[in-house]
Amino acid sequence: MTGRLTVVGLGPGDQRYLTAEAAAVLADAHALYGYGAYLDRVPARAGQRRHPSDNREEAARAAEALHDAAQGASVAVVSGGDPGVFAMAAAICEQIASGPDSWRTLEIVFVPGITAMLAVAARIGAPLGHDFCTLSLSDNLKPWPVIERRLDAAAQAGFAIALYNPVSRARPWQFAAAVERLRRHLPATTPVIFGRAVGRPDERLTVTTIEAAANEAADMATLVIVGTRETRVIARPGRSPLVYTPRAIPPAVVEVSA
Ligand code: SAH
Repeated sequence: MTGRLTVVGLGPGDQRYLTAEAAAVLADAHALYGYGAYLDRVPARAGQRRHPSDNREEAARAAEALHDAAQGASVAVVSGGDPGVFAMAAAICEQIASGPDSWRTLEIVFVPGITAMLAVAARIGAPLGHDFCTLSLSDNLKPWPVIERRLDAAAQAGFAIALYNPVSRARPWQFAAAVERLRRHLPATTPVIFGRAVGRPDERLTVTTIEAAANEAADMATLVIVGTRETRVIARPGRSPLVYTPRAIPPAVVEVSA
């Protein structure tokens, strides 16, 4: 028996966002590894082992899954959204880079999923319709000054910005500090979208401005999209607003940074 490890993206929550490829891999695996809340989304199958672990145990989980695959099992490691976006795909690669040689000969497959920023954007229009970038606001894995520098650079360069991991219990002040940083560069009316638990029953979407964004509640299930100078909101009677970033920037517009 030859082992195989597949890193699978589950999408943002609802089953309809699970790709056909992801569903097939999950059904075929001998063993599933992942954060418990993500594993709970995968339908139970007789004979399939499950190895739930805590959200903060990525490295240990990756090593256990690789060890299991090296023994000959077909192993699936799950992530919410896409596994390559602030998730398990890089954790698996890190373990292979520093692990035993036998892990380098394993078949490793990455199955993409719909990442949170695309699910949120699709709910509201096209806020990522032009150039954009994404940052995780978590300073567990990088120093806060690096985050500040990247926020400055992204806003100055005119990117729309998707912010993952805006807040957690252990990181209460970082989101307000990030908004304060962005306000230095962006007009007060710049649209900001809060997408919470998108694709789940408790989904909530809010549109506000960068001026008011720090007062808006964000949590671990929230993805925040900060627009650009060009991002517009279309009010619609009886319907939720559309937020979009136009496809083009006129040649005459010179970007001014604060
Ligand atoms: N790999 C995941 C991201 C993991 S980081 C992906 O591609 O989506 C975890 C962060 O993702 C959360 O703090 C939140 O910012 C965002 N997120 C994940 N699922 C979400 C959902 N259903 N709705 C809104 N944001 C979500």
